[in-house]
Amino acid sequence: MQKIIRLLSILMLSAAFNTTFAAPQVIVTYTPPVDENLKPYYEFLKSRQALEAAAGTAKLLQWPTPLTLEAKQCNEVNAMYVPGEARVIMCYEIFKDLVEKVEAQLGHHDQKYRDDIKKHAAVFLFRHELSHAIFDILKIPLIGNEEIAADAVAFHYSLEQKDMAEVKKLLQGAKFYFMRRNENFGDDTRYDFGAFSDIHPLSEQRYFNMLCYTYAKFPEEAEFLVKQELLPQGRADYCPREWKQLQDGVHRLIRPYAVKAKK
Ligand SMILES: [Zn+2]
Repeated sequence: MQKIIRLLSILMLSAAFNTTFAAPQVIVTYTPPVDENLKPYYEFLKSRQALEAAAGTAKLLQWPTPLTLEAKQCNEVNAMYVPGEARVIMCYEIFKDLVEKVEAQLGHHDQKYRDDIKKHAAVFLFRHELSHAIFDILKIPLIGNEEIAADAVAFHYSLEQKDMAEVKKLLQGAKFYFMRRNENFGDDTRYDFGAFSDIHPLSEQRYFNMLCYTYAKFPEEAEFLVKQELLPQGRADYCPREWKQLQDGVHRLIRPYAVKAKK
């Protein structure tokens, strides 16, 4: 009985101050799939608490409205942010696609490397979708294509990471994400007209945007990109300015919503 009284008084106090039991800012949910082929992905992600881990990035910000991160069956290979619903959806199908493509294309690497690529490709994709949520919910003004901006903010999260080994894995994962559908990556003769009208830039462009920011953020560590002509000098010359613009944008528009570090 005493326990109940204590609990009640805590509840009343928290209602008064609206703090202790405040509603969670980031809600994680795994919806079981109907398709048997997707069940292993549901089990795996849930048991590894993959969304809870991803939520860590979302929790860096103060959301004016709760944000839901959901894993579900979508009947398409995709991930999405649903504007107006404050909901990021990661489809089991995209995880299945990533796993299958990694196993088919990176068989010459060991299992640990392949698993790292799968995880970090998914992290990049999640951060891209989270960026859409940031733009919509925090009403961040955008001038130009939202997909390019979402990639840019996702790259910013990866490149600002303190641990260099982790940065490398994140970049390798994103690279695989861009390359996975086209084994002739860079061979633009295979594109049909629709590829150019898509809301997303070509995967190759998304990949070079990533290299450009990486080169600007880490001029010494990533110098090889230019030396080995992986990033053409003609583009590299613009990268410091591009990175500065991205940093200024993030600092001015998104940083004000950062959760203040507790002292
Ligand atoms: Zn997008």
